[in-house]
Amino acid sequence: MGKNKVVNIHAGHNPDGKTACGAVGLIKESTEARYLVKKIKERMEDAGITVHNCTVNNGTSQSDVLQKIVAKCNQHKVDLDISIHFNSGRSDRKGDGKTGGTEVWMRGCSGIKKAAGTKICNKMEKLGFTNRGIKETTSLYFLNHTTAPAILVEVCFVDDKDDTKLYKNKKDIIAKVIAEAVIKILE
Ligand SMILES: [Zn+2]
Repeated sequence: MGKNKVVNIHAGHNPDGKTACGAVGLIKESTEARYLVKKIKERMEDAGITVHNCTVNNGTSQSDVLQKIVAKCNQHKVDLDISIHFNSGRSDRKGDGKTGGTEVWMRGCSGIKKAAGTKICNKMEKLGFTNRGIKETTSLYFLNHTTAPAILVEVCFVDDKDDTKLYKNKKDIIAKVIAEAVIKILE
């Protein structure tokens, strides 16, 4: 690897038990996102990437959490900003044999964002998650206010038994493949 690469990563909500702690279903978004962020950061650091954890634990509301996250992100000059979230809305608590799966949001599907998002979705598909693909939006605060290229990963659904079962079995591998996708793109 040439010039040192720098990445920001964070969990998208307050910690469990506080206001604005994100989606809760069969697993808790706040807790699992923090777990993945820690593991992904370690993997990237092993590959020589400088990683800043921009997770916020003291937001007074979801908009305050987001403002604080963005302020932290923009303190560093980075190659990529990564937000880790979990999705909800499947309401499949029994399991129907089909995962809701993974999607990655970005503002403008181009360049490093498109490459990283596509690779993450493809690697998650290989682990058994439905590939929901990369998606474009201009309405997410984090994506609109970060200065570096930014992606928001919806890892899987917290309220789908198929997703959460697979997630629990593979969370360390999930962290590994997300890290590897980004490492590969930054090479
Ligand atoms: Zn979220």
